[in-house]
Amino acid sequence: MMRTVWIAAVIGLSVILSSLTPLTANTVWSVDTTRKQVAFTFDDGPKPESSIPLIDMLEKLQIRSTFFVVGHEAQANIDLIKRLHEQGHEIANHTYNHRRLPALSDEEILSELERTNAVIRSATGESPRLFRPPGGQFNTKVIQIAASLGLTVVLWDVNAGDYVLDVHRFPVKDESRREDGSSFSQSVIAKITTQAKPGSIILMHNGGDVIELLPTIVTKLRNRGFEIVTVGELLREGKPRPNSIWNNDHVPD
Ligand SMILES: [Zn+2]
Repeated sequence: MMRTVWIAAVIGLSVILSSLTPLTANTVWSVDTTRKQVAFTFDDGPKPESSIPLIDMLEKLQIRSTFFVVGHEAQANIDLIKRLHEQGHEIANHTYNHRRLPALSDEEILSELERTNAVIRSATGESPRLFRPPGGQFNTKVIQIAASLGLTVVLWDVNAGDYVLDVHRFPVKDESRREDGSSFSQSVIAKITTQAKPGSIILMHNGGDVIELLPTIVTKLRNRGFEIVTVGELLREGKPRPNSIWNNDHVPD
């Protein structure tokens, strides 16, 4: 009897462990490295009105970044994906329709990821290796389906909060609303430049006013000795740093 209970407990534990293992093995919040490198990531593109000035700015600053692209936007702007690829940026998967994945069926999740992979492959000739779930919302099922397509889930450890700069999406948040008197632009610059540490993955968005802040952000980071690289390059320097999956800030997209 005791033996049966023990075996059942071991089986139960191994089921729990096997369902937990992918959470740590295939999610990246930041990278465990002592090298002073950080990665900029830009979500939700490509969009001609904001991607072109962003690509131009990154070229001027001599930076290569990771772009988590939305499949249907990529399909409509294949030339932009090609340009990003030609300029050495890393193109990664951010689903086809930017839907919250935990609410979808397995088939729908698979379709969101596969369709986006196909668009990226048709533009670059390469399959993406990295994937970021919209809103940072994921569960074990999402990680496992992503892993089945060779995709690693990439989150972030520094949230620039740059979406507050986009007044069209957040019309009530203007420059005068911060209690400490600083502007939202100043808060975005401060968040990135004070929170960045070796191996940090910095969340920004492909749009709006963050482009104008990049020269200041990059100068401050470089003055602190940081080099700006892609997430793929960071992952060649070290393994994912252990992190809680529950400390995720809520972000609106
Ligand atoms: Zn997004």
